[in-house]
Amino acid sequence: MGELRQDIVTGQWVVIATERAKRPSDFERTRPARLPNEVDDCPFCPGHEHMTPLEVLAVRPEDGAPNTPGWQVRVFPNKFPAFETGSAVDPAGGLFPVRPADGQHEVIVHSPDHAASLGTMPAEEVELVLRVYRHRYRVNCDDPHVRHVHIIVNHGRESGASLEHSHSQLFGVPLVPPLIELELEGAKLYAEQEGECVFCRIVEEELESGERVIARSSAYIAISPYASRFPFGVWILPRYHLESFGEIDEDQLDEFAEMLRGILGLFHDRFGDPPYNYYIHTAPCDGREHPYYHWHLEFAPRLTTLGAFELGTGMMINVTTPESAAAYLR
Ligand SMILES: [Zn+2]
Ligand SMILES: [Zn+2]
Ligand SMILES: [Zn+2]
Repeated sequence: MGELRQDIVTGQWVVIATERAKRPSDFERTRPARLPNEVDDCPFCPGHEHMTPLEVLAVRPEDGAPNTPGWQVRVFPNKFPAFETGSAVDPAGGLFPVRPADGQHEVIVHSPDHAASLGTMPAEEVELVLRVYRHRYRVNCDDPHVRHVHIIVNHGRESGASLEHSHSQLFGVPLVPPLIELELEGAKLYAEQEGECVFCRIVEEELESGERVIARSSAYIAISPYASRFPFGVWILPRYHLESFGEIDEDQLDEFAEMLRGILGLFHDRFGDPPYNYYIHTAPCDGREHPYYHWHLEFAPRLTTLGAFELGTGMMINVTTPESAAAYLR
């Protein structure tokens, strides 16, 4: 029999359809051919800096000129931004609300190597990418138009990535997105009723039972969440309480890089480099305190596709129990 599970933070219900259950091996894929290290028309490869907007930041160990090769990580505005400061709209009002898509949309290229990916790069290189995340996070939070900074990765074509050269995107959004709003409300309600952070409570509970834990370190756990919306979905939760990703210190950052790289490497090895998405959930930068919130990363491999039931109801059907997913991944 299947069951309905509720996410204790967001209140969202998920159908865990064990009747339709698939074995983990059903999701394994033939590993795609290895990418070349350099591609002639790739705008993210070194030597092609002129194909992107001017960089806003680059890590250059040898100190070269901006927008030339020699960088390790490179950041520039998205050429086709979803959010941009100075967009104007006709504020006619009436039935249909509208507002300008003011904000920021940046691309963070992880490595000059076209074939590199975060799950297989050396640890120091992943640390460097996360240092750049933290830096750009802070800069964008200070933008008065931005109320929430959302850092994401689309890996592989089926995940929505339009370019295969490994990169992240940072969205500086002029409002608090609905899913963040749901988590904030849920966390606030739990804190008011129970007197503690719901994420800290989840960490405690998961460590105690252990059945959904995939990996643990002194500062993080990776779990298959109880009401996972996706087969083999993973959350990386800090074991320390902190509302914003922008406030992590050096040690927390290095250990986070190790955990993230470990999880991505695990999927790379077990499922043959599957397409995936991840995103960092962190408190809004709206000038308010969110002491009951607890930043984390959510990872979703693209092993199944959304059907009409999911689109029509907003309820996901997950064909793998989080417990069996965690057991397989441990
Ligand atoms: Zn490239
Ligand atoms: Zn907490
Ligand atoms: Zn979340």
